[in-house]
Amino acid sequence: MTQQKGTIFLKEVSTLDCAVFDGKQAVKGMTWLADVFISGALDKNHFVWDFGKAKKNIKNIIDKYFDHVLILPADSPHCTQKTGINGTNIKVILDIEPEVTDHGDQKNIAMEYDAPAASYAFIPGALFSVANLEEAIALKIKESLPPGVQSLKVKLNEEIGDAHALFFHYTHGLAGHDGACQRLFHGHRSKVEVRIDGQRDFAIEKWLVGEVLKESIHIAVTSQIPSFRGGEDILPVDESHKIQMSYDGSQGSYKAQIPSSKVLMIEEETSVECLADFLFNKVKERVPGKLVSLMVFEGVNKGAIREETRL
Ligand SMILES: [Zn+2]
Repeated sequence: MTQQKGTIFLKEVSTLDCAVFDGKQAVKGMTWLADVFISGALDKNHFVWDFGKAKKNIKNIIDKYFDHVLILPADSPHCTQKTGINGTNIKVILDIEPEVTDHGDQKNIAMEYDAPAASYAFIPGALFSVANLEEAIALKIKESLPPGVQSLKVKLNEEIGDAHALFFHYTHGLAGHDGACQRLFHGHRSKVEVRIDGQRDFAIEKWLVGEVLKESIHIAVTSQIPSFRGGEDILPVDESHKIQMSYDGSQGSYKAQIPSSKVLMIEEETSVECLADFLFNKVKERVPGKLVSLMVFEGVNKGAIREETRL
C-alpha cells in the first residue's frame, strides 16, 4: 500500500514588519504577510501537520528570526560587519552609493547601525530579493518540522489595498518598548487615509505620501538624538549631513548614523499614535477650517485615527 500524501497551506500565518537593506542604496520599512505551503505524508490522523501546531511553530520562528529586524543581504559588498557595543552587539556599515545634491555636490551617505545581534537577519545574496528571504525563512522553519513533511515553501505578499491606496515606507524604533519594537531599525509599509469634511481626499493623501513622508523615511524623536539642542525643524547635522542617534532599551544598546535627508522628526515618540497626530496637524495647516479625519496604518490592519467632529 502506498502512503497517502497531501499538501496543506496556511494563509497569512504571520506578519513581518521589518527594515530591509537592498544591498546597494537604501534601507526601507517593509510589511509582508506570509503564506506557507507544506507537503508530505499523512500521519495517523490523515494530517500533513496539525494546523494548530503548524501555525504556532511557524509563527514563533518568523517572529523570532525575521520580524522587527533589519534584513541584510550578507554578501553585499556595501555591507561591512564589525563587533559592536559591549563586544556583543553587531555593527554594520552600509556603504551606500554617493548621492548628488541639488547643488551638484556629492554627499557620502554611508549609514551605520550598532545593535544587539537579535536585531538582524542576514540572508544569502549580494542584493536583497524577496525570493531569497522566502528561502531563508523556509530553511529556518525546516529545522523543526515533524517527520513525514517533505517540502515547505514560503510566499511573502504585500498588502494590495483598494484602487486608490498609496503606501509609504518608514523605519523607526521605540526606545521604551519592552519588546522588539525598541529596535531602532525595524519598519512598516503602510497606507494613510484622509477625509476632508467627510469625503476621502486622494490629493491630500498623495501630498502626504509623496512630500511629507517622501515615500520612504526614518522617523525619529529628539530624545533619540543626544546632541539635539532644540529648535523648530533644526537638526543636529554634521558637515557630512548625518544624524547620530543612540538609546538604551531593555534588549540592549542601539546606535545609528543616518543621512539627515532620510530623517523625519516628530514630537514625543515614534508610535503610530504620534505619527497620526503629526500628519493630522500637517493636513490642518493645509486646509484650515475644514473638518479633518485621518487614519494611518502601522503595517497591515492596525493603526491610529485622529478625527474631529463638528460641535
Ligand atoms: Zn514599528
